[in-house]
Amino acid sequence: MAALACLASSLSMGGAAASERAHFRSLRTTSTSISMGLPWEGRLARGVPLHNSATIRRLPRVASRDNFYGTGELIGLLERSARTVAKHWQGSRLTVGELSARKGGWLDGHHSHRNGRDVDVAFYMRDRRGKMAQFWRFVPFSHSKGARRGPRHLQFDDERNWKLVTAMLADPEARVQYMFVCTSIRKRLLKQGRRSGASTELLRAAAAVLREPKVGNPHVDHFHVRIFCSRDDRPKCQDEVPFWPWYDGVPPDGDFTEPPTIRWRTARASR
Ligand SMILES: [Zn+2]
Repeated sequence: MAALACLASSLSMGGAAASERAHFRSLRTTSTSISMGLPWEGRLARGVPLHNSATIRRLPRVASRDNFYGTGELIGLLERSARTVAKHWQGSRLTVGELSARKGGWLDGHHSHRNGRDVDVAFYMRDRRGKMAQFWRFVPFSHSKGARRGPRHLQFDDERNWKLVTAMLADPEARVQYMFVCTSIRKRLLKQGRRSGASTELLRAAAAVLREPKVGNPHVDHFHVRIFCSRDDRPKCQDEVPFWPWYDGVPPDGDFTEPPTIRWRTARASR
């Protein structure tokens, strides 16, 4: 458990000293949004809209539906993560699909997305010449690097997508529960993490949140990110298992879920 305590500390300040926690609390934006219930049967009050900016782009395919409302924590997570990536790759923009309707509730085409804590995020891509690229809709990828259907010239950008994963996991305010994505993309992201020298703790955290859903959409063309309820919104806002060590509360049954151990195929993995 020592490694996990360390993980919580380094990724989310969950295990930080009281003074550090106070410092991070002081950095929190006071969010007036309220997420109620569960992601698949809840509502959202005083939702915060996500706007286009230098680092954020609403996915053109769904832009006119205007379902870009989330909790303050989710909007903050998207903006901070997109900025972190853009700091390393100038001009980089995160393309974002639907979040929730202004007041939450049922959203066409989604099972969850009902209480401002879910968002669909496009993969960062490059074209054949290696230039950063965007598209008007989500682009599916599978085992090969090139797009599986549609625009064959687009490539999955391992480096920027991995940076996005780490930026979200390290966010000081929002706590990520899931980044749903298909198994083949999960594998390539973890490989990228290992190549980039990420710590075992960080890789395990990524392995925990990057998951292909057991049923329904396997997520070959976008991440579906879900965050835990913010402290302020509990207990009206509800979470279900798994509660990772960076969850900033006490799980209902008192037990945190340990992130999985990664079994690499090659010896280098055992570090
Ligand atoms: Zn989704």
